[in-house]
Amino acid sequence: MLTYEQALSQVLQASARCSRQVEKVALADAFGRVLAGAITAGFDLPRFNNSAVDGYGVLVEDLLGAGADTPVTLKLKGQIAAGGTEGDDLKPGECLRILTGAPVPDSVEAVVMKEYCRLSDEDGSATVTVATGTRIGENIRMRGEEIEEGSQVLGPGMLISPPIVGLLATLGQTDVDVFKQPSVAVIATGDELVDPGTPLSGSQIYNSNSPALLAALRALGLKNVSTFHTRDDEEETRSVLQNALENFDVIISIGGVSVGERDFVKGTFESLNVQTVFWRIAIKPGKPVYFGTIEGQNAGAVSKLIFGLPGNPVSALVTFNLFVKPALKIMQGLSEQEQRITTARLKRNLKKKAGRLDFVRGTLESGEEGALVAQATSGQESHMLTGLAQADCLMLFASDLEFLPEGAAIPVQLINWHE
Ligand code: AMP
Ligand code: MG
Repeated sequence: MLTYEQALSQVLQASARCSRQVEKVALADAFGRVLAGAITAGFDLPRFNNSAVDGYGVLVEDLLGAGADTPVTLKLKGQIAAGGTEGDDLKPGECLRILTGAPVPDSVEAVVMKEYCRLSDEDGSATVTVATGTRIGENIRMRGEEIEEGSQVLGPGMLISPPIVGLLATLGQTDVDVFKQPSVAVIATGDELVDPGTPLSGSQIYNSNSPALLAALRALGLKNVSTFHTRDDEEETRSVLQNALENFDVIISIGGVSVGERDFVKGTFESLNVQTVFWRIAIKPGKPVYFGTIEGQNAGAVSKLIFGLPGNPVSALVTFNLFVKPALKIMQGLSEQEQRITTARLKRNLKKKAGRLDFVRGTLESGEEGALVAQATSGQESHMLTGLAQADCLMLFASDLEFLPEGAAIPVQLINWHE
């Protein structure tokens, strides 16, 4: 059976072979998407010298020796506000009131903060008494100091965050090229499943996996997601899977992928020309995970990714996190990211059988001297969503181990449904 690392690496390799298309979206829709090209600046940033503070524009020499006990008085020549024009040149003995963001004329050598200055307006001639010295360039944001015209500001593969939206707007962009998002089909399998809203009878249970996975996909910003259900019937399974393969880029089936008599998923995918990459991994929860691909037109290219997740609700969500999420990121053009793994100390000992890597659902708290302390949540069985609902991390209890004592170090992966 494959290890977690081997399985993940195969998923990542196949995802990287998926071809990506580019589309233009309005800036208002760009958050959460991935930049498809480089962004270069069409002008210098700042575009003109401007003031970082509310204060007075001065010549440095006028304030030589000025201080709290030796203030210097200058003649006020005028005022420039943000959005205003630069006005006349400054001459020795003069100052100009300049507000934050207002253009600073070339003749002004520094802007002294208003807090050091006292304005007086006697006999109609305004003067400013300055109680500090200054130096060339003080409180002036220089043209091009952040970005020079023509230079690259952002590169392809970057996730568009609120500051990136802000940067694009700063550069005057109304829209931006991003990678197209894959369309996703989520297919629940099982005769026992009914949707919330319908009364349960006999041994029926509510379908919780479809809403949970739909939420997980929405949290990643994916918009084109559809859900389907098939009973444990070979014909129906075939028709639902075939429809999904014809119409979606990523197919996520849930359940029916183990070794039961009525587990039709793997065989049906294979009969529909899906190339099996792997089936079954030495992990817990999630052993029966299936992964396959449909090849693309060009040699080596992949056109669709097919995941068969196990039906137990914890297994479905944990394996979604472990394998589907990284694949979706790469398909959307995100430059590959390291899994965020950190180390914590165990609050209580852990026991298991050797042979599979256990993803123990845990919570983190801070211990002594900033060390992280991890503790397993109650409800660790793969049908117990309560244990995952409380968890903020997965603790990686290594395959060959059977016991870890309290205080032992354990790798932990943070659970973040939003990225
Ligand atoms: P399976 O992998 O189909 O054998 O399912 C394993 C377990 O998960 C069984 O107890 C199923 O009833 C349950 N299960 C499968 N699919 C779902 C679902 N969509 N929602 C809730 N439970 C499910
Ligand atoms: Mg089933």
